[in-house]
Amino acid sequence: MSGRRRLAAGNWKMHFVRADAERFGEALRQGLEREGAAAKEVDVALYASATLLAPLHAALDGSEIAVGGQDVHPEERGAFTGDLSTSQLLDVGCSTVLCGHSERRRDHGEGDALVARKARAAADAGLEPLVCLGETADERRAGRTSDVLARQLQPVLDAEPGRFALAYEPVWAIGTGDTATPEMAQSAHATLRGLLADQVGPAQADRVQILYGGSAKPANVADLLAGEDVDGFLVGGASLDVDDFLAIINVCAESRAR
Ligand code: PEP
Repeated sequence: MSGRRRLAAGNWKMHFVRADAERFGEALRQGLEREGAAAKEVDVALYASATLLAPLHAALDGSEIAVGGQDVHPEERGAFTGDLSTSQLLDVGCSTVLCGHSERRRDHGEGDALVARKARAAADAGLEPLVCLGETADERRAGRTSDVLARQLQPVLDAEPGRFALAYEPVWAIGTGDTATPEMAQSAHATLRGLLADQVGPAQADRVQILYGGSAKPANVADLLAGEDVDGFLVGGASLDVDDFLAIINVCAESRAR
């Protein structure tokens, strides 16, 4: 078994207002306190809309739960209407940020090079980037999954962000209920770890947490965690229900305890 900690991360996307975030944060904090020692061995993060970050951080005060932005601009300041800088994220209590979620790539035209710049800027500022990558259904059908992962990962490695985590999120699995099989997930994660090992060496590659994302829910996470390179989850829909999210954290904790 690797020494990597499990990581359960929720991506709230464009859901919730402040009262929801505060209620959720409080319930999650209390839920984790009830669960005790095993759950504390799991890293937990919530990625929320900009308006929710400060109240969520306040609601989670005193806990180890990380708060993260869903995007960041690579420049520190300037004429970038609607964007958020690393210092703005740090200012509201963030310690991490998503880079290159497929919805940003699809809806905002974010390419691999820009995602890599974001990851580097985040890491330089002390925000741990969680870099999202994954193939579309057409790319998988064409047998191009490994090529796509290599193409998306390479600029990130070239940018040398230092500490970062990856989320393998096959685009066809996000929000569709069509979860990757444990074999598909493990195979993609092993590809990513192999690419990492080639470039940064096996020891450093072994330390990178690689999450699976795409219709993960309490009923399927235990099977997915059987893959030795699957270190946890980036969870969209199921992270909007605190009981479902706690159940996912618990499965991560139990799988680590085995
Ligand atoms: C996501 O938004 O990153 C995601 C994986 O969503 P879902 O769990 O709803 O598929």
